[in-house]
Amino acid sequence: MYDVAIIGAGASGMMCASILKIKNPKLKILLLEKNDKMGKKLLITGNGRCNLGNLNTNISNYNSTSNISRFEKYLDIKKIKDTKNNKISPVLDNENYIEYLKHIGILIKEDNGLLYPYSNQAISVCKSFERYLKNLNVNIKYNFNVTKLTKEKNSFTINDCIKAKKVVIATGGMSYPKTGSTGFGYEILKKFGHKIENLYPSLTYLKTDYKYIKEIDGVRFDCIISLNVNDVITETQKGQVQFTKDFVSGICTFNLSRNVKKYLQEGKKVKVIVNLVPNYNKSEIEKYISEFKNYKIEDTLSGIINNKLASTISKQLKLYGKLVKQMTKKEIENVIYTLHNLTFNIIDTGDFNTAQVTSGGANLDEFTDYLESKKCKGLYVIGETLDIDGKCGGYNLAWAFTSALIVSNDISKT
Ligand SMILES: Cc1cc2nc3c(=O)[nH]c(=O)nc-3n(C[C@H](O)[C@H](O)[C@H](O)COP(=O)(O)OP(=O)(O)OC[C@H]3O[C@@H](n4cnc5c(N)ncnc54)[C@H](O)[C@@H]3O)c2cc1C
Repeated sequence: MYDVAIIGAGASGMMCASILKIKNPKLKILLLEKNDKMGKKLLITGNGRCNLGNLNTNISNYNSTSNISRFEKYLDIKKIKDTKNNKISPVLDNENYIEYLKHIGILIKEDNGLLYPYSNQAISVCKSFERYLKNLNVNIKYNFNVTKLTKEKNSFTINDCIKAKKVVIATGGMSYPKTGSTGFGYEILKKFGHKIENLYPSLTYLKTDYKYIKEIDGVRFDCIISLNVNDVITETQKGQVQFTKDFVSGICTFNLSRNVKKYLQEGKKVKVIVNLVPNYNKSEIEKYISEFKNYKIEDTLSGIINNKLASTISKQLKLYGKLVKQMTKKEIENVIYTLHNLTFNIIDTGDFNTAQVTSGGANLDEFTDYLESKKCKGLYVIGETLDIDGKCGGYNLAWAFTSALIVSNDISKT
């Protein structure tokens, strides 16, 4: 009989096994993973660099249908702002996941508030966990697909063959299923009577029917982008936007994507509105255009925005080829308005194969402050399976690691 069985050796599962063993070396722990190695998703995070946290982490970077303020104290990592103190922590007196990462040998570096492993490689994070868990004699079974979990009076049985006093579900969400996260946690939790909030792909691109989208494939630029739902601006982001095939993409678009699938299913009209020249007001652009009266409008615009966009905007407004001096006042006003409000109808989002994270999941109100199920004693859930998701910028791994810490604080006492 194991003291604890952790299902899933992704970010949260690896961290949970490590912290449990650090806090209570006597615990007999089993880590079960259906892949042939641990952390398959973690390896592709942050474009292979693994953005594992953010110095600005606080609860406002997260979404959930439940009140998540009770977890705020764990997510506040101001204590580690002194990144110069980047040494292996022999004493774990700060209760935050960064201290544990350092303790197991993952040194951290900061890049504009974003936290990365010092090595700049996600693989070093996985290898450090692997080494550390092996050294602590944590039992790990690879190629072990959990398909069944049952509860007896004081223990659990996994796949009719493994017994454990406590079980931690760390099976992730639905995003990037090829990495192993295929939604198993939701199925099991439903069987134990848990409510699963609707699941949607989040941190993904937005599909548009903009007539000229193919002509601007590959264009990327800094701008301000807003989400407009039924003619009301609901959210605004500043950053780089990128156009690919039929999609509006880029980190700030990802951050707007969370509720888009839901809005579309509800029949709402969704648009993104891009301000291509946020640093210039109407009269400044008017003055700029008027300096080049003998130019075609697309040539004039290519002085301030991407050349391909200059052409498509001119075509969209049926002004392509027209000299500035031939344009009416209204036409010039239209051009300026479009530079500040280039509008893309959104008809779909990327699916779970392309979404970085799942929004929705196991309703948090049904769990204690230590993330133990209120419906089944001894059953804990961590990571993306829960109904909490963060923006781009290291917040999702921060939650995966932090939730592992929260659960370990409770289980290690036993
Ligand atoms: C392309 C991409 C880039 C990302 N970049 C970042 C980033 O830079 N920063 C950031 O904060 N977040 C990032 N994320 C999000 C982040 O990776 C996840 O939120 C995080 O990995 C979730 O951790 P988890 O432990 O809950 O689940 P996962 O990491 O998905 O781990 C779940 C594990 O459980 C295993 N499993 C599932 N079912 C079973 C079963 N039945 N039996 C046995 N094992 C099972 C899976 O094989 C998997 O190994 C990114 C995501 C993607 C897809």
